Amino acid sequence: ADVDVDLKSLVRTIPDYPKPGIMFRDITTLIGDASGLRSAVERLVEPYRDSNIQAVAGIEARGFILGGAVAEKLNCGFIPIRKKGKLPYTAIGQDYELEYGIDVIEIHEDALAAGERVLLIDDLIATGGTAEAAAKLLRKLDANLVGAAFVIDLPDLGGCARLASLGVKCHTLIAFE
Ligand code: IMP
Repeated sequence: ADVDVDLKSLVRTIPDYPKPGIMFRDITTLIGDASGLRSAVERLVEPYRDSNIQAVAGIEARGFILGGAVAEKLNCGFIPIRKKGKLPYTAIGQDYELEYGIDVIEIHEDALAAGERVLLIDDLIATGGTAEAAAKLLRKLDANLVGAAFVIDLPDLGGCARLASLGVKCHTLIAFE
């Protein structure tokens, strides 16, 4: 029954955040709802139940909330991908372009064994720049990136097509124009 929860209606849209012209899709309302959270996690996990996923990697910060729950359901561990300078042990980095300037995300150098089957999780894919950087980080560690799953897709921004061109398969639950 939870699969029938209308996830889209649980996402709050905030106009002009963080700047004028942006429609920010806020999932705090979705994850704050018991059925919404459970349904989103179930639906994220569903294609991967028989995929022998060995680790879930989540992108700071909302990817931690969903990724932790997904990892628990898939009976595997969780790997944090964080903004530069936040991880305590030796990390490797990947930069990616923002609208203005560049940013860097990092992963612990020993987070994965070579060939490990990894699922990448975040709340939302827009241009795909963040997910592409995360995929590159995982591949630097010789992970086998089985797929990438997001609650929200903004298909007009082309993120899933961008991941597809890197050979990464995308799974998304709901879309906004
Ligand atoms: P991308 O790199 O352009 O695909 O942007 C995706 C990243 O930015 C993800 O980590 C998202 O959490 C965040 N993001 C971009 N737009 C939104 C939004 O409307 N709501 C929530 N997060 C967003």
